[in-house]
Amino acid sequence: MTQLAGPSRSPAREYGGAQQVNDPINVVLIGPPGSGKGTQAARICHRYQVSAISTGEVLRAAVKAGTPLGRQVQQVLASGVLVSDGLIIDLVRTRLAEPDAAGGFVLDGFPRTLAQAQALDCILEDRPLLVLLLVVPEAELERRLGARRICSTCKALYSTGTRYGSEAELCSRCGGMLIRRDDDNLGVIRTRLATYRETAQPIVRHYQSRSSLVAIDGMAGTGRVTRAMMAAIEDARVGSTARSKKSVTR
Ligand SMILES: [Zn+2]
Repeated sequence: MTQLAGPSRSPAREYGGAQQVNDPINVVLIGPPGSGKGTQAARICHRYQVSAISTGEVLRAAVKAGTPLGRQVQQVLASGVLVSDGLIIDLVRTRLAEPDAAGGFVLDGFPRTLAQAQALDCILEDRPLLVLLLVVPEAELERRLGARRICSTCKALYSTGTRYGSEAELCSRCGGMLIRRDDDNLGVIRTRLATYRETAQPIVRHYQSRSSLVAIDGMAGTGRVTRAMMAAIEDARVGSTARSKKSVTR
């Protein structure tokens, strides 16, 4: 039914056959800025027909819904203060209790702190969780982020392929000037990568100690990264089926 976008060879057939179960796909995706995490999250969701749940989306949805939690979020955002762990955890807990999440989810950008990771363990209780860690060397991330351009007119995204090339490139769609976003300047990029390093480390250690973490080489092409992730998901499913059988016979 679902077909994967991108250059990969019919992964639906490759992995579809092993899908004897309707086990939910519960995935946490961790990866630095520039790792292609968003693209991969979208592909996994498309393939397994599950929702991507990101902190930003959950915050926006709560504000829009006007729930008591949402009004709280709106006040915090308006005051310019960072949204607290407790509030984000409450929102994610509420989101994961919605019917569609019972069939699986891909969490992108959550957990961001150790406290959030521990809270997620409590929220999920016995539900299985697979953590996929996209690994890309920082030099490559700097190169990728530094090569990003956006059309100043139509906002189309480009990768120039050169690190700090000429800015005088034009959009192939509308002829607008391609510019680098403020977020993509080297100083900002390094700060973002350092922040990621600091915040990701304790979370990665937390999941390593529970062996639910699979590291994926993010240097491979986008299609190969997708296939590696899906292979890890299928492995985890087979493993969880085997484990639950074992616990029944024990
Ligand atoms: Zn344009």
